[in-house]
Amino acid sequence: MSFNSLGLSDALLKAISKKGYTTPSPIQQKAIPPILEGKDVLASAQTGTGKTAGFTLPILQLLSQGQHLRQRPVRALILTPTRELAAQILVNIKEYSEFLDLRSTVIFGGVNQNPQVSQLRQGVDILVATPGRLIDLQNQGLISLSKVEILVLDEADRMLDMGFLRDIERVMKVLPPKRQNLLFSATFSKDIKKLAMGILHHPVQVEATPENTTVDAIAQKIYPVAKEKKTELIIKLITEGNWKQILVFTRTKQGANKLTESMISSGIKAAAIHGNKGQGARTKALAGFKNGSLTALVATDIAARGLDIPLLPHVINFELPNIPEDYVHRIGRTGRAGASGEAISLVSPDETTFLRDIEKLVGLKLPKENIKGFEPDPNASTEPIKQGQGRQQRNSTPKKPTTTTSSRSGNNSFGPRRPSQNNDRRSNR
Ligand code: AMP
Repeated sequence: MSFNSLGLSDALLKAISKKGYTTPSPIQQKAIPPILEGKDVLASAQTGTGKTAGFTLPILQLLSQGQHLRQRPVRALILTPTRELAAQILVNIKEYSEFLDLRSTVIFGGVNQNPQVSQLRQGVDILVATPGRLIDLQNQGLISLSKVEILVLDEADRMLDMGFLRDIERVMKVLPPKRQNLLFSATFSKDIKKLAMGILHHPVQVEATPENTTVDAIAQKIYPVAKEKKTELIIKLITEGNWKQILVFTRTKQGANKLTESMISSGIKAAAIHGNKGQGARTKALAGFKNGSLTALVATDIAARGLDIPLLPHVINFELPNIPEDYVHRIGRTGRAGASGEAISLVSPDETTFLRDIEKLVGLKLPKENIKGFEPDPNASTEPIKQGQGRQQRNSTPKKPTTTTSSRSGNNSFGPRRPSQNNDRRSNR
């Protein structure tokens, strides 16, 4: 996906390109379209995922399209817990709005208020603020928030940790009731959910899992299983567990179709989504999955990427991905802090190498549990299945430790994946 396809204006695209960004990060891909549509958004994203541009870019676009009032009242308010973050967000806003006629400023405590006040007097479209100073200036009658159209609560969990709840509530009281609300938080405790419920209206939920870190709240489990018994096992797990909403991952499109058919014949309402399915079929399957008329959605990694799938109680890896990072993306779909989530992987002997790569990447030995009657033959070959060129290539070339772990460093949520390594391995998905 490119920034062009997100529907951003030329002025923003120019600024983005000046920053050197080539590809929107996952949170940007997911958050920008609903924000542009004027929807409330509840986003799970931490620093480092590109979340700032995720909300700033669409806000700039909406404000530049909106009505310019001569006095420039504050139309977008961004609340953040710390001054460092506030200052950083302002820097980003300035960069992204370079080619737009919009003004922005930042206010935070601990410094003389006068320069901030004089900035405000000149009129600003976008105000970044820490709650304390905002309330302070508001109480002194030095700031009006009656024209705010968009509110962002950034790092909402940290704001609560720092005791800003009362201040946030006070700010809410002086904002116009009709506005767009965006809430970003790295974690979703009960308190955050309560806050979100009080502020957001029918929010679109989006999330970005930082690459290569497994989410602590997810219980991960491996069921070693004979390859030919996988279908029987997954059907048993779903039916006996009476699970209602399960996202299942297969490695290939053919695999997804075959498994879906078997599930349907066993009475499980299932649909497949993958690269060969048209947009209409995908949308329908996703809608059915979300509204509960489908129990299982069987997806390949590429098809699942970019889909707005809510966080789920169960994710099953019917097959392990041959790209270890995909495992992290897959299991990031399950419950987060506060909500329980289970990520189950059915692993046959020929996936031993994939499992080893995944465990190396996430830095964990995943717990194994045998299910009677489904155990693999202890003498079965652990030779990886031959699938596409990539795997074979990797096995036949001397192993460099960086092949699977190099994306750990730097801004690993961004940019296209390393083409030489991945394109061939993804061809049939
Ligand atoms: P954030 O998570 O918003 O703190 O952003 C983390 C870093 O990623 C910042 O240095 C941004 O400038 C940078 N960044 C944001 N979006 C992108 C992108 N699409 N491509 C590359 N870098 C980005």
